[in-house]
Amino acid sequence: MRGKYAVCIQKFCGCVCGVLYPRRCPVCMEIVTPRGALIHAECKKKLRYICEPSCKRCGRQLAYMEKEYCGECRKREFHYMRGYAVWQYEENIRRSLSGFKYHSRKEFADFYAAEAVRLYAGRIRQEDPEVLVPVPVHRARRAGRGFNQAQILAQGIGRLMGIPVDAACLLRTKQTMRLKDLGRRERAKMLKGAFAVNPAKKVDYHSVMLVDDIYTTGSTADACAAVLRRAGVEKVTVLCMAIGTSVN
Ligand SMILES: [Zn+2]
Ligand SMILES: [Zn+2]
Repeated sequence: MRGKYAVCIQKFCGCVCGVLYPRRCPVCMEIVTPRGALIHAECKKKLRYICEPSCKRCGRQLAYMEKEYCGECRKREFHYMRGYAVWQYEENIRRSLSGFKYHSRKEFADFYAAEAVRLYAGRIRQEDPEVLVPVPVHRARRAGRGFNQAQILAQGIGRLMGIPVDAACLLRTKQTMRLKDLGRRERAKMLKGAFAVNPAKKVDYHSVMLVDDIYTTGSTADACAAVLRRAGVEKVTVLCMAIGTSVN
């Protein structure tokens, strides 16, 4: 009986919230119709989904079928095994993710997570991670923003997939300036010592999937993968929402 009550209260609260704070579309930012939808059907068409051919390492869209790896992945070795991405990083998803991250549009994560699972549930199951680990942000940045966007994403995906999320095993020990305009070498230098395994936590995972919003050169995700591998994790995979287009 109590369970039934709880469900009723939850549904009622959901309705009240839906009326007071109607869900916004992650692309045009207007109120989403019909009710219950996560995005306007027309707006969804404006997002560029990753399709084949894609890089066998990072998951980036490739221009030509002949190549297995993108220019970035042909140039270097990574500590993670395989990456997956939902969208190509272009203007619409850039604006959407920035609304999510900098304007606290947390409801957008429901759409991002649902799409990640719709596209990659099979691959995620195959990779078989014991936990999803969000790429951590420095606590100063988290304090400013109020949340870690990667953690919200990981929790959304974890909920849909039934995979636990461990947001405490990795720490961002150094606050880095925005890496956006830096080249690969400068990024690597900037990220040196930027992550560490939480000394208060035991990391005894065999397989971990890192979750992040944007993958550009892969330096950030790989810096996390390196730390996890050093702590004894055998297999690290990466799932991100948007990935830059191939530079080759
Ligand atoms: Zn829209
Ligand atoms: Zn690649």
